[in-house]
Amino acid sequence: MAKGTQGTSSSIEMNHVFCFTIALMLTLQAQSAHPQITLVDQHKTSYVIHHAMDAPETAKLAALELQQTIQKSTGVLLTIASEPMTTPAIRVVSDGKLPHDGFEIRSAGSDIVIAGNDELISARPDTWFLPSHGTLFGAMEFLERYVGVRWLFPGELGEDVPHHETLRVAITEPIRGAPAFAARQLAGVGESDPGASLRRKTAIEWMKRQRLTNALHPFLTGYGHSWDDYLKPADMEAHPEWKSSNGEAVRKGKVVFFCTTAPGLVELFAKRVIETMDRNPTREMSSISPTDGGGFCLCERCSKLVTTDPHGKKNHAVAILTFYKQVAEIIERERPGRRLGGFVYYNYQYPPPEAPKLPDNLSLCWAPLNYYGYGLLKPLYRAEFEVVMKRWCEITPHFYYHNYSTWMRSYHGAPLPVSIDILKRELPAAARNKAWGARMIGTNAWGANAPINYLVAKQLWNAQLDVSATLDEWLQRAYGPGWKHMRQMYDELDARMLAHKEAQSPIYNGGQYEANEPVIKAIYAPLFASMEHHYRQTLAQCTKDTQRQRLAMLGDNLIQLYHALRKASLIADDGKSIFHRDDTAFATFLKEMESTMSLHSDGQGLDHGPIWKDQYGGP
Ligand SMILES: [Zn+2]
Repeated sequence: MAKGTQGTSSSIEMNHVFCFTIALMLTLQAQSAHPQITLVDQHKTSYVIHHAMDAPETAKLAALELQQTIQKSTGVLLTIASEPMTTPAIRVVSDGKLPHDGFEIRSAGSDIVIAGNDELISARPDTWFLPSHGTLFGAMEFLERYVGVRWLFPGELGEDVPHHETLRVAITEPIRGAPAFAARQLAGVGESDPGASLRRKTAIEWMKRQRLTNALHPFLTGYGHSWDDYLKPADMEAHPEWKSSNGEAVRKGKVVFFCTTAPGLVELFAKRVIETMDRNPTREMSSISPTDGGGFCLCERCSKLVTTDPHGKKNHAVAILTFYKQVAEIIERERPGRRLGGFVYYNYQYPPPEAPKLPDNLSLCWAPLNYYGYGLLKPLYRAEFEVVMKRWCEITPHFYYHNYSTWMRSYHGAPLPVSIDILKRELPAAARNKAWGARMIGTNAWGANAPINYLVAKQLWNAQLDVSATLDEWLQRAYGPGWKHMRQMYDELDARMLAHKEAQSPIYNGGQYEANEPVIKAIYAPLFASMEHHYRQTLAQCTKDTQRQRLAMLGDNLIQLYHALRKASLIADDGKSIFHRDDTAFATFLKEMESTMSLHSDGQGLDHGPIWKDQYGGP
């Protein structure tokens, strides 16, 4: 470089030009590979939403969801079209090559493509013939990811839809999604309220947006207690030798228990199952689960099928599995392709050391009673949990997980702990063990428990979800800038419940999934002042009416809880609490609450009497 400075100077200039060119090329390249699409520009759009003329209902529903939510966000109504056209479009495309319920969001020139598997009867064995709704779930992903929408809880107040004057979408690479479980159910959130209640309608809408199977197919699975559906009192009279050794065959006009090894019984039972199937040709699954209560036969034959569970209790699993196997083999022969469901629960919740080989038309639903009501916080159960689950997965080809794990019967407005610990543990384990489906229990007291319902619903789709970060996001979206106080409240509830469960007997009893006196004394009475502090702090920082209204829904529960604590003399009644109401004001409050979604509501109304001692026995 003899020419020294000049050369250097010129080189610098050249380098500038060169760098600029390279940068421009890279930018252009980036733009052509993944352009930023301007869907709405200052309240205007050239886009339509397009689906094929003969698109399945799912794709049409997806288009409608996109249209409505984009309008809420931008004020712009995109037309839904099905004629061939060259206008830029969000194209909703059904594609059976994608995974069950799966989708792909990609850009194609100036178009956005939301492709999904919409096959109503999938031939893929891993899905076990569940209808698929990929484009709908792809639309939900698009709205959450690119429009920033969150459906925090049912109804308009639960919708957090950011406002966009201009909506730009940058799809840097195709976004693919598919669920952790083929069958995803969340129950107890108001979806089965009688009639056409607002709670029911909005709960089902919300469930659909959370991609839950039972929003669209409420009867897809069948595991309920059903022995009395098939055998009738007259059958037991005709066959006195079928009676269970405990002598109880019929209760209130219904068959409860019988000897599962009695000659001839299985054949008649299976015949009745077949008749029921024939009467209900569209029923997706028929349950053959025993009556609740576990009063099984201990005759000489049945006793040979009884083992001992890991906690020293009688285990009837071999007897029940043998019964399931015999019935299922007859159904497999007589009605091939029809599905059966059976519980493994109560005194048959633990897998036996040697299990009979089960036919492929039977799905076992593990309902581990021991782990109900935060039981999974007990060290003994925590340690055994995945080992037991894994073993059940080896026994049944279609394992279905069902738990009331982050649930308690809570009728006094006590907000339930989220239990990050349990959430991190259970559905991820079910997904690792390739469960076919799961049914989790939420609550319809949305004002207090919306975060649990939300987290469990999200985990049913994505078992790897970061539950702690998602809880933070939910609280922030719902309650605004003071949300960290609410997180502190939930963390305090979690810590108290953990300590309470660790101190409880390691062996289960029926009172352990109740927000009863011991739980109220251990958790809610000592925490109430702190809960109120967090509530006031959050309220003081709210910047929007929607945040205040959502917080007030939690407040409604705290009014109810305060009342229950006051009546039980478990709280200092100094009149300083913002949740204090005298008896007259409380009665008026309850009346006003009747048509809201805040408090626990069932056929027994909102007031369930004083805090109960052990198991709930009604108001
Ligand atoms: Zn017997």
